[in-house]
Amino acid sequence: MARRDYYEVLGVSRDASEDELKTAYRRLALQYHPDRNPDDPEAEEKFKEASEAYAVLSDAEKRRRYDRFGHEGVGGPGGGGFQDFSGFEGFGDLFGDLFGDLFGARGGARGRGRGRGQRGADLRYNLEIELADVLEGQEATIQVPKMLACKTCGGSGARAGTQPERCSRCQGSGQAIFQQGLFRISRPCDACSGSGWTVRDKCPDCRGNGRVEGQKTLNVRIPAGVEDGMRLRVAGEGEAGIAGGPAGDLYVVISVRPHPLFVRDGPDLHCEVPVPFAKAALGSEIEVPTLEGRVEMRIPEGTQAGKVMRLRGKGLPALGGAGRGDQYVRIFVEVPTKLTSRQRELLQQFADESGTEVSPVTRGFLEKLRDLFD
Ligand SMILES: [Zn+2]
Ligand SMILES: [Zn+2]
Repeated sequence: MARRDYYEVLGVSRDASEDELKTAYRRLALQYHPDRNPDDPEAEEKFKEASEAYAVLSDAEKRRRYDRFGHEGVGGPGGGGFQDFSGFEGFGDLFGDLFGDLFGARGGARGRGRGRGQRGADLRYNLEIELADVLEGQEATIQVPKMLACKTCGGSGARAGTQPERCSRCQGSGQAIFQQGLFRISRPCDACSGSGWTVRDKCPDCRGNGRVEGQKTLNVRIPAGVEDGMRLRVAGEGEAGIAGGPAGDLYVVISVRPHPLFVRDGPDLHCEVPVPFAKAALGSEIEVPTLEGRVEMRIPEGTQAGKVMRLRGKGLPALGGAGRGDQYVRIFVEVPTKLTSRQRELLQQFADESGTEVSPVTRGFLEKLRDLFD
């Protein structure tokens, strides 16, 4: 699905103020909220779209990146579902604020309650990726074992042709309330396990639970520049709710597999490359690995062991698309360990030729020694 421009989604101009954004979002969220449009995938899509647009535009930093780089700047093209880095803390608050009055305290408490059933649990999925995948991002297909809404009864738990009934013990509140001295104590209602609904004639496939064990295949867009340990949230892809309640969220936790050659430092990469001592002394073209293949690098005459050279822009992209890091190549000068008699002869000649000649690094060292001990 092509992604619409966030300003267009909210129906505001590009220089809309924070208040204008909020008003536009409230209007759309009220119109398309799943509680008002049950089982309407189109409304749900519109609701998600508006929520995503508002999540980005209401955050000054994300809005700036979006204005500059478009959708790529705020996490790449969506792979389905509303993804973010769990950075949108205002979500719950705004919803509580918006829907608390409309749908009663229970609906507002979690911000997205349907006034019926319990919300499904959030899930965590660990996804291991290669360092090379960080370069361009990746579309990953994952299989998530989880509780799914029962297809036979549509998640209600009631046999086809029947409906769940409001629990008579708690009048549908899901709470049993006791008065103890000055305190009112509430706990989940026994009769309906806190869902507020009871099923007289149970669905045979889920035994009235509304959920069945299963597995779902999802496509998740891993943005370029992702870092080890980051969490991607896919809203509504956690476990299905109980007795028609809303689903939880899925958190995909990224771990980047260690690379045999490169060590990562934010967007920069570090590696060590061995160079034979003669080449280091004479200067040479050497072959250096990068994440995109081998490149030739010129090392100058007299390159010392430990020298670090930089390949500009050969690191990883910064998250959000603002340029690329560099690759640092540390030269490791390798001294030959097995000399042929001819090589030994030549080296000896070289040593004789050098005589008592002192190189600049050695001279500095000798001067310091002298200062210390003489
Ligand atoms: Zn069922
Ligand atoms: Zn009850």
